[in-house]
Amino acid sequence: MFINSARLQQHFEAMSEIGKIGETGTNRPAHSPEEKKAFELAASWMKDAKMKTRIDNFGNLIGTLEGKNTSLPVLMVGSHLDSQPYGGRFDGVAGVLCAIEAVKTLTENNIEHDRTIEVVSFADEEGWRFNKGLFGSKGIIGKLDPEDVERKDANGISRRQALIDFGCDPEKFKESEYKPGSIFCFLELHIEQGPVLDISNKPIGVVSGISGPLWWTVTLKGMAGHTGSVPMPLRKDALLGAAEIMIAVNEIATQVPGDPTVGSVATINVFPASRNIIAEETVFTVDLRDIDLNRRNKYEQQLRERIDSIAKKRSLEYTIREDFNSEPRYCADWIKQIIHNQCNTLNLEAPELMSGPFHDAMALSYVCDYGMIFVRCKDGISHNPLEYSSYEDLGLGAEVLYGSVLEILKK
Ligand SMILES: [Zn+2]
Repeated sequence: MFINSARLQQHFEAMSEIGKIGETGTNRPAHSPEEKKAFELAASWMKDAKMKTRIDNFGNLIGTLEGKNTSLPVLMVGSHLDSQPYGGRFDGVAGVLCAIEAVKTLTENNIEHDRTIEVVSFADEEGWRFNKGLFGSKGIIGKLDPEDVERKDANGISRRQALIDFGCDPEKFKESEYKPGSIFCFLELHIEQGPVLDISNKPIGVVSGISGPLWWTVTLKGMAGHTGSVPMPLRKDALLGAAEIMIAVNEIATQVPGDPTVGSVATINVFPASRNIIAEETVFTVDLRDIDLNRRNKYEQQLRERIDSIAKKRSLEYTIREDFNSEPRYCADWIKQIIHNQCNTLNLEAPELMSGPFHDAMALSYVCDYGMIFVRCKDGISHNPLEYSSYEDLGLGAEVLYGSVLEILKK
């Protein structure tokens, strides 16, 4: 091993003290004093690895290790240090700390390189504070919506104000954007946040891509009536219709065993929600994801047909509102190959798997090639203080990241 896993462990332990909740939990909201403290600590390690550091106007922390030829597009590596309000110690943190460790190892070994390397902790990846994520990564590529800075958090503080309080200038976003072609590629290490690696007993995975979510809000309208008197055949029961649609979502997503398709209904509102009134209206969300867009489109069509026939059978009216529709974003083959080679060098059998959740890499994928390394997490638990990855696995991940960085620097 080239990286120093004891040092890496110390960094994780020190970082987990910032915004600590309970024994193992973290609460570091975006653009908050806790995130600022996390940035200061990470920046001290970046400086120790000979990087220059800055916080840009989107609230991203960026460490730069200049190469000999500063006109080359940069190799960018990173993730995020903000957390969920009831989050763990590794989500996002793993990608930032392993990237710093990789650069520290590079400078310790006096490795010369032409290309500049940047380590970034992106602002507000998680998206819960202002109900929209990937803020910093979309910011640097010029893909923010104008309304993004006007969004308010639960306390009525706008993102604009939070950024100003953080020391950023929202009037100068343009200055913090990267010019087209100025990023060579992006590498992100992240905990898997799912159980695939844990179940297959593999510490490291190579990400094939980030699956595209399709998000709907479905409204079913029936007819209220007394649950004690309306005969069963005459009912227009919106909750019964919703129940059948939930089953349909599940059946459609699981029709080919082993495929990575996932489909969920995770929220539902019922009106009027009285135990003795037949449900007149239900509003629920559908989340359908797949790495294969053709298959997802096919399943979407199947689901539309099922909803239509269920609604007809139950005499219900329905509407489907599309809230979000993103295509899958695939990792670059040449970067996947480099990561595989590094895993082989370490005698790691690393399976390829897709990412269901989004990551900052998804934003970057619109301007450059990207690759992702997944590190096993216990039972696939994430967004929870119980989230756990072992320091052995994180060390292996950092080593794979380091080796991959060296290979990319040869390009
Ligand atoms: Zn994350």
